Amino acid sequence: MEQVSAQRISSLDDEPPLKQPGVGVTFPSPSPKRPGNPRSSLFRKHYFPNTNSTQWNDWHWQLFHRITTLEQLYRYVTPTEEERQALERKDWQFPFSVTPYYLSLIDLSDPDDPLRKTVIPQIAESHISAGEAADPLGEDHTSPVPGIVHRYPDRALFLATSFCSVYCRYCTRSRLVGGHTETLEVQWDRAFEYLAQHTEIRDVVISGGDPLTLSDERLGLLLGRLKQIKHIEMVRIGTKVPFVMPQRITPALVKVLKTFRPLFINIHATHPNELTEESRQACNRLADVGIVLGSQTVLLKGVNDSIATMTELFHKLLTVRVKPYYLFQCDPIVGSEHFRTSIAKGKEIMDGLRGHTSGFAVPYYVVDTPGGGGKVPILPDYEVSHDEKGLCLRNYEGKEFMYPDVVATQGPL
Ligand SMILES: *Cc1c(COP(=O)(O)O)cnc(C)c1O
Repeated sequence: MEQVSAQRISSLDDEPPLKQPGVGVTFPSPSPKRPGNPRSSLFRKHYFPNTNSTQWNDWHWQLFHRITTLEQLYRYVTPTEEERQALERKDWQFPFSVTPYYLSLIDLSDPDDPLRKTVIPQIAESHISAGEAADPLGEDHTSPVPGIVHRYPDRALFLATSFCSVYCRYCTRSRLVGGHTETLEVQWDRAFEYLAQHTEIRDVVISGGDPLTLSDERLGLLLGRLKQIKHIEMVRIGTKVPFVMPQRITPALVKVLKTFRPLFINIHATHPNELTEESRQACNRLADVGIVLGSQTVLLKGVNDSIATMTELFHKLLTVRVKPYYLFQCDPIVGSEHFRTSIAKGKEIMDGLRGHTSGFAVPYYVVDTPGGGGKVPILPDYEVSHDEKGLCLRNYEGKEFMYPDVVATQGPL
């Protein structure tokens, strides 16, 4: 099924109304000891009594049954006042959408559930704070042809679609996503042409929207066209699909993806609650065919802004062969203040990771600089002082050590 048609049919609703609308039901957390995902399966049986597990595990079913309106949401949960006000607004541009699977990971009886905050709009997102912008990274200025952002010398970003199965409320590209998918797809030819002409581009990042919501055929065509461009040495796909709609990672999709080597997939990971039987299987399927998996996480207030949560998330990702790649400071998009932490918070989390756990579990903490300067790494303050005696460093335990830096002994600093 093409994503466009899935979008159109989502308004046709085929499931029976709930007997008790608006009642939040608490389901047990996923247990690693039992096979399957009991939380999702109880959710299915409660809300979709006529849907069997084969249907539930079909990604077309998940797309078709996305929750996109306040009326649909009422079936599952009584929205908080902040959520109701947000969803009642008629003039908003940024769509609301969540798959039944992803909704099943949320404890709907808890207004503070971490994943709930990331997908259900709150009225706070209509509040514009100082320094916020629709396109804070200045991507539109570094776009030589529609759909391509070429900011770095040897790599380019290819925005292949504007569609996502689930819209994250803090999305950096909320100005682009939703609605006009068709316009991005007709631009593909110009994008391929640009990539072919620019022989300095050796690395292409396919993003969007979520590229893995494209059909197998479209993805096959996309990867096939990139493969024909000889100077492109590697391709990466940025996606949240393995965590919001893991049913999409079918053997047929994996067969298409493995035609391009080397292929890297960066999964947008937010919270340890996303690591379920289904998402584990999705990651393992991708890793089993040699796709190199990394993760990208946005630091979000009240969602994942603690050392314990981040450590658990990164440990769990490593168990499914996903290497934590970037931890992003939340971009100052319009209406993002309620999600943004201080930089000090990010440094504190990084400080709580390095040395305390496997280096493999430690991502780069970066700020994507407003105005289009690209990503800049931020480190906790490890360099205590630097003088003629050398560089004084603080380790993870807070102890100080002197390194006899040659610069200090051989010449002026
Ligand atoms: C993040 C990004 C890349 C890739 O950056 P890496 O640091 O190589 O992962 C490329 N282009 C744009 C526009 C980006 O935002």
